[in-house]
Amino acid sequence: MTEAITKPADDPEIAPDVFTIAIDGPAGSGKSSVSKRVARTLGFGYLDTGAAYRALAWHALEHGIDTSDSSAVLDVVGDFRLSISLDPDDYWVRVGATEVTEAIREQDVTDAVSGVARVPAVRRSINALFRLLVAESERPGVVVEGRDITTVVAPDAPVRILLTAAPDVRAARRSAELATSDAEDVAAALHRRDASDSTVVDFLTAAPGVVVVDSSELDFEQTVEAVLDVVHTTTGAAHAR
Ligand code: C5P
Repeated sequence: MTEAITKPADDPEIAPDVFTIAIDGPAGSGKSSVSKRVARTLGFGYLDTGAAYRALAWHALEHGIDTSDSSAVLDVVGDFRLSISLDPDDYWVRVGATEVTEAIREQDVTDAVSGVARVPAVRRSINALFRLLVAESERPGVVVEGRDITTVVAPDAPVRILLTAAPDVRAARRSAELATSDAEDVAAALHRRDASDSTVVDFLTAAPGVVVVDSSELDFEQTVEAVLDVVHTTTGAAHAR
């Protein structure tokens, strides 16, 4: 069972003057595409925190290290220079001068990412980076999506949502995205990654005060509407469409 991970008391709050919408959820819940659309609709920035962990996994693989070896992972954090766009209409990820937007979606990176993300010191330094990115965003608000945003990165965000979907629905969505892969392999890989990630952060149950949006029976547009409804009811008309 996952231990509850919470924000360390001495960690600063994520930029308090930027309106933060925190969205957590497992792979295949629709989190990334929904968060991006919600950000676009509200004129907010969009921060894909999974991309940062993926970029670090990519960087570690470039260095040829074994990503299940925590101390080797920590060694390569030192020269990890991540830049990531918060513009939902112009999304890119770079490590140093190399554009890795597509490369971080490759299967070898996906297979390695949980190993990198389980190292507590890695999470602390990546979380500090997220706070900086949100503070510098020059947008009225930012939609931040990931696994521990509602609990660790931005537990005081005015809007906190857990976007879920039934495991078979998530697996079906993921295999539709990766049309070249075998559906059963995709489902097995997704469940393996969920199981591994769940030992680090519990992203399958909502923390107190977090609103659950279950997208199992909703299409993309309906899920976006459901999330915007939560934003609307939580904050009043000011931040609605
Ligand atoms: O969301 P995405 O599938 O791109 O995330 C990739 C990986 O990054 C996850 O499987 C998880 O290991 C890690 N992650 C995390 N905490 C976050 C976001 C992602 O540990 N906030």
